[in-house]
Amino acid sequence: MLLELRDVSKTYPTGEGPLQVLRGVSLALAAGESMALTGESGSGKSTLLHLAGGLDQPDSGAILFEGRDIAGLGDAALAEFRRASVGLVFQQFNLIPSLDVEANLAFQARLAGRHDAAWMRLLAERLRLTSLLERYPEQLSGGQQQRVAIGRALGVRPQLILADEPTGNLDEATGDAVLELMLALQAETGAALLMVTHSSRLAARLGRRLHLASGRLG
Ligand code: ADP
Ligand code: MG
Repeated sequence: MLLELRDVSKTYPTGEGPLQVLRGVSLALAAGESMALTGESGSGKSTLLHLAGGLDQPDSGAILFEGRDIAGLGDAALAEFRRASVGLVFQQFNLIPSLDVEANLAFQARLAGRHDAAWMRLLAERLRLTSLLERYPEQLSGGQQQRVAIGRALGVRPQLILADEPTGNLDEATGDAVLELMLALQAETGAALLMVTHSSRLAARLGRRLHLASGRLG
């Protein structure tokens, strides 16, 4: 397995006491596989995605990447895992406003020491960004910004793409087009994809689907 969550629980402290968001969640994602994660707002989808990407730690349970518990990684190895093995795509695009499209695209790959100019050119072409490389994020439409964010995530050729409602800020037609591009690139690169979505219609485009409710997966 590429990614495994075993009996993962997560609680947040809040003003009204502890809030248990995940209650013994387990899932397994194979290399190259795609999985949709659905569930109501507040059901813990983003929490699960953050745990899978090593951005946060569970209270109990294990998160294994290629069979190794990421909780056992030291700071440097964890940072390397996040930069080189995981591509994150968020609903809010999260581009760097002071960098042009070309620099945003290259950002993660440069951080990870994996910049590959030929791959970047190909990604820009596939994402139809070649004529926009000198623009800044504020000069782009939402769909264009999300295409840049997808390119940034794929620049390192990650083994795992984690996408949190990647089309949530886009109109339906634009969102569908962006999703098709992401799925095509995912298939071409052999990356696994775990994607949060509200939409059953979009979830049906992925290989498998899990639903999160009351802190449990079904
Ligand atoms: P979803 O992505 O499914 O909408 P989240 O994982 O973002 O759900 O949040 C699940 C629950 O945990 C929500 O009730 C949210 O308010 C709460 N929550 C998320 N992050 C924190 C945090 N850092 N501190 C306290 N509560 C949080
Ligand atoms: Mg969320």
